[in-house]
Amino acid sequence: MPEISSRIDLIAPRGYCAGVDRAIETVERALDELSPPVYVRGEIVHNRHVVDTLTARGAIFVATEQEVPEGATIILSAHGVAPEVHANCAARRLRVIDATCPLVSKVHAEVRRYATRGATVLLVGHTDHDEVIGTSGEAPDQVIVVEDVEQARTVEVTDPNNVALTTQTTLSLDDTTEIVQILHERFPALLMPPNGDICYATQNRQDAVKSAVAAGADLVLVVGSQNSSNSNRMVEVGRAAGAEAYLIENVDSVDPDWLTGKRRVALTAGASAPEVLVREVADLLAGRGFDRTGSDTPSAEGVIFALPREVRVP
Ligand code: SF4
Repeated sequence: MPEISSRIDLIAPRGYCAGVDRAIETVERALDELSPPVYVRGEIVHNRHVVDTLTARGAIFVATEQEVPEGATIILSAHGVAPEVHANCAARRLRVIDATCPLVSKVHAEVRRYATRGATVLLVGHTDHDEVIGTSGEAPDQVIVVEDVEQARTVEVTDPNNVALTTQTTLSLDDTTEIVQILHERFPALLMPPNGDICYATQNRQDAVKSAVAAGADLVLVVGSQNSSNSNRMVEVGRAAGAEAYLIENVDSVDPDWLTGKRRVALTAGASAPEVLVREVADLLAGRGFDRTGSDTPSAEGVIFALPREVRVP
């Protein structure tokens, strides 16, 4: 049992961002309003609970558009896809509903713009992440993925005076800063979007973790799936700030040993994790004697993206 003063702090913002909200609502509306079957390409967002819930409601998740019968409806995930996928969908006469987050679409547009100028586009991110696969596909012959500091030091480009930089939206700003610095030193004429590509939701959730640790949290629990990039980065940010930090899929992932001797637990969730999972963890810790504090409102960021027109109420 924790000491009397031990507490769990629900930090905010946490959980669903505007892009995830939009993607999930898109599938829900398609299931409600369109004739079945409704296919979804890839995980609509990187969260097992969300995928299982939508599957139970009738969504059929497929790895590629090639698995979808000709003429059927397919929803593209929030992470975005390469133009080749759109071409494949057109060839199969699929009815496409594109749930790509508008902030990911913005990065796609940047890559197209830089590629049109003949630039080599350095894309900072994780090679096998869905978002990076989709973004790279905008200009496969010109995009080079840079994963870390070492690759930033060694990457070779055709023309050092014509190089551009974009990033995956869900990275840690702290990690990316060093990579960008190295690339700037190597390519002084480096073109890049003025405000960067890391999205507001990623940044705000990482900042909240840092503030919680600065305020005394000695354990950070981040609810999110293993393949959720922004959730993993939140764990890293918590550790870098000096706390013990773990990624948990749900309440069953909490190891009781982590709680031993902890005075202040910061509980949060990645941008694709539903609040119901956070509440279950909070209840578990409350049951173990932690005082519950913090925000009942997961996010008040005020960002809303319009739904794709195919599922918009007229
Ligand atoms: S994490 Fe950012 S880029 Fe990804 S879906 Fe959410 S708002 Fe969009």
